[in-house]
Parts: sequence; structure tokens; C-alpha cells
Amino acid sequence: MAGLYLHIPFCRQACTYCDFHFSTSKDRNAVLDAMETELIKRSKEMGDGRVGTIYFGGGTPSLLAPDSVATFIQQARDLFRVESEAEITLEANPDDISPERLSEWKAAGVTRMSLGTQSFRDDRLKWMGRAHDAQQALTSIGLIAKAGFKTWTIDLIYGLPEMALSEWDEQLAIALDHGMPHLSAYCLTVEAKTALAHQVRKGAVRMSEDDDQSAQFDRLMERMAAAGLEHYEISNFGRPGHHSRHNTSYWEGVPYLGIGPSAHSFDGVSRRWNVANNAAYVKAVKEGAPYWESEKLSPAQRTNERLMTGLRTSRGVDLDKLEVDALGINSSVFRTHVSKGYINVVDGRLVLTRAGRHFADRIASDLFVTDHDR
Ligand code: SF4
Repeated sequence: MAGLYLHIPFCRQACTYCDFHFSTSKDRNAVLDAMETELIKRSKEMGDGRVGTIYFGGGTPSLLAPDSVATFIQQARDLFRVESEAEITLEANPDDISPERLSEWKAAGVTRMSLGTQSFRDDRLKWMGRAHDAQQALTSIGLIAKAGFKTWTIDLIYGLPEMALSEWDEQLAIALDHGMPHLSAYCLTVEAKTALAHQVRKGAVRMSEDDDQSAQFDRLMERMAAAGLEHYEISNFGRPGHHSRHNTSYWEGVPYLGIGPSAHSFDGVSRRWNVANNAAYVKAVKEGAPYWESEKLSPAQRTNERLMTGLRTSRGVDLDKLEVDALGINSSVFRTHVSKGYINVVDGRLVLTRAGRHFADRIASDLFVTDHDR
């Protein structure tokens, strides 16, 4: 069962930390038309045509008129065998939420709302360049909770400059008070070519210390565990039955089709990524010219991807599915991480311990292999 990802490359304004592909242009129709064309052209790539999850990501999908969301979902249903219980997620920002729009998205088939809350403090939201304020974040959570979606989630950011543990604690308390069934919490990182990177370079912003970020991650894990939300991926916590099926499929290496500028696709063997430029995308789709690059993954690359994504999940990495014996090749590094109490092998799966979750990406890359290692 594959996933379908639709990248909606528009935002109202640019958040200072963001390196996703988007444009603030209000002229959206040409891109949406090109995406419909791409979806039709590439529908045969979807194996047996069965689709278990559809995900509208971006950018800001909630900028789309609900009609456009409905059209894409109907088009997917016409082209693929979309499961009757498919998970259909729409990312939304608080400034786009109203009771009317929620009910239209629901009627269109959306089953899961993902709200870009980020913070419940006006000063932080302003600093991040978000288009909404704290009151809009709270109001929109209340509206989503009442709207009758199968599930919903919010995003929060920690590791902000000079963020005290008490501030983060307060943010988590507000979120939990609103009864969210799922939380994605990300540590702020400085991505190249963002406004934040420029501010840091100039010395106008000083990022928080690793120790503070680490303490906030610990508090996040404690708070979520106490509230009954399972820590099923480094940045993701959900009540049973409310985990993201779409993202879980990514982490498990399930094929997916990505439509739209900058969208990535994976068919089990090759990765493909579309050009991250709206005008170039529209022109190439119209002319039938290539608008993507692709790469066939080698056994070592597939092994490394499984390590990188699988290790971030609570289920860990199924060692039988690794094409290259990464633990055998990196046996001394592996033993070091075990002795430090960062990783374990449980029932044939490599899993991080709670302490190891602080270093997931580094531990995975320590275990990477090359094609010469085989
Ligand atoms: S709304 Fe989301 S995608 Fe758009 S700039 Fe902000 S963080 Fe990036």
C-alpha cells in the first residue's frame, strides 16, 4: 500500500527558519494545473494502484480553496484504488482555520488535520516570522478538536534562543490542556540560506546551547509519557491509534509518489526529486520535458537509509532487512554505542535507548556502510 504526497508550494509569508520550497506568489493556478497533469501522467507508477495515505504538505496547503483539495482527492480516487479507510492529511496554519473551511475539508475527505502551531507565545511567533498569533493558534486548536476529524496533530518548536526549561514546560502544558492526540515537536535548527542563518552569521541571534536543547527534549519525553502519548519517532508522539500512517510508511521504506515542485518520490529502488522552482516546473510539465532528477539507490545507500529512518523510530531497524551487514562491518562502533547504553538489539531489531534518542542521527551515521564494504 503506497502513499501519495502533494506538495503545495505556497505560503503567505516566509518564516525565518524555513528551508522548504515555497513561493509567496498569489498566482497559484498554473502550478495546481501542472500538478494535476503530473498526477495523471505518473499514476501508472503507483504499483498495483493501491493507496493507503494521501498527504497535502508544503508550503501551506490550507491556502488552497477547499474546492482544490476536493478536486485533488477526487482525482486520486479516480486514478488509484484509494483505501476506504485511507488517512488523508492536510497541513494547515492557524490563520487559515475557520469552522466553514474545516467542514469543507472534512467533506472533501480529509481525515487528519496537521496544525502548524509552533508556539503559544506572540513574541516567539513574531520572531519566527509566522503569519498567526498565539490566540489564533489556541482558537484553531479548539475548532479542529470539535470538527470531527478522525485525528489531528499540532507542531511545536523547542530549542529557541534563550528558551528556559520553564517556558518549554508551559508550552507543553498548554498543548496537553487542549487534549491533542498527537504532537510533532522539532528542535530549531539553522538551515543554510534562511533568514535565520543570516541573523546567526551576523551575530544578531545566538542559538541555544546543546545542553538546553537536550534538557528540553528530556522534558518533552517525560511530559508526553506521563500524558499517555507514545514516543514512536524522535519528533513524534501519539496516542494509540493516532500515529501518522503516512510518515510511518516513509520511515519503513514503503514506496510513495510525490507530486508538485520539489516533491520526492520513492519506488522501492530509486529516488526521484522534482525541480524546486514553480516556474520551471510548470514550463517543463507543459512541454513534456523532464522536471526531475533521479538516482538508483545502491545496496549500501538503501542500508544507510533504513538505518537513518528506522533508528529514529521506536520499532527500530529490522536487521534481517538490511542488505549490508552494517553492524558486522562497524562492529567496534556498534559495541561502543551499546556499552554507552545508546543502542540495543531486541528481537532482531536495532533500537535506540532513551539516552540514545538524543543522538539518533549521529549513531545512524556512525553505522553507515559504503558499497566497498560488501
Ligand atoms: S508556513 Fe511552513 S512552509 Fe511556509 S514558510 Fe512557514 S514553516 Fe515554511
